[in-house]
Amino acid sequence: MAQETILLVEDEESIVELVRYNLAREGYKVHIAMSGEEALGIMRTIKPSLILLDIMLPEIGGLEVCKRLKSEESTINVPIIMLTAKGEESDIVAGLECGADDYVTKPFSPRVLLARIKAVLRRSQEEPPSEQAVIQHGDLVIHPGRHEVTLADQKIDLTHTEFKIMHYLARRPGWVFTRYQIVDAVHGQDHAVTDRSVDVQIVGLRKKLGDAGSCIETVRGVGYRFRE
Ligand code: CA
Repeated sequence: MAQETILLVEDEESIVELVRYNLAREGYKVHIAMSGEEALGIMRTIKPSLILLDIMLPEIGGLEVCKRLKSEESTINVPIIMLTAKGEESDIVAGLECGADDYVTKPFSPRVLLARIKAVLRRSQEEPPSEQAVIQHGDLVIHPGRHEVTLADQKIDLTHTEFKIMHYLARRPGWVFTRYQIVDAVHGQDHAVTDRSVDVQIVGLRKKLGDAGSCIETVRGVGYRFRE
């Protein structure tokens, strides 16, 4: 049984009850905040293992709460899963860019939410492989030291940028990255590369990878992730 504490920030009673019941049944200790202000207050006294954060909250909204928690040393490492409504992709992107770890779209089933919580808790506890570690995914092997990708032992001819994008995504399988995060990671402060050009790079990358290209998944309206 899980022992972790979860803070649920949500202003809709029915969702609070549904989530509270299902989390408690799984053995999680649940704290509830019904506003952003309350959530920030609670965070001064408890340190949950994870926060479920509704985006549409009265007064201090979820994005602002996320931003504040991710900018403070004492709370920066607490993983956040945003709860968003369908069609709020721009909020999802904004949330990921201010440090949220994942999101679940309403309406969600308790089973999906629980799976997501477990995945985020697991991922947040494991260190990503070092910059130089070789990453293997089936027949696909990424060799950072040699700046090389092989598929069934055949070298794939990637450009510098294609390699960097692939390596960046593959170091964190399952995590969703926005285009801006990818551009930022791959090019640092070089803003000559736009977020849309990430799409072009990914198209090229998938083409070169053939069937193995499906390891790079498109998350519609949000960004990309490497298959877990
Ligand atoms: Ca709400």
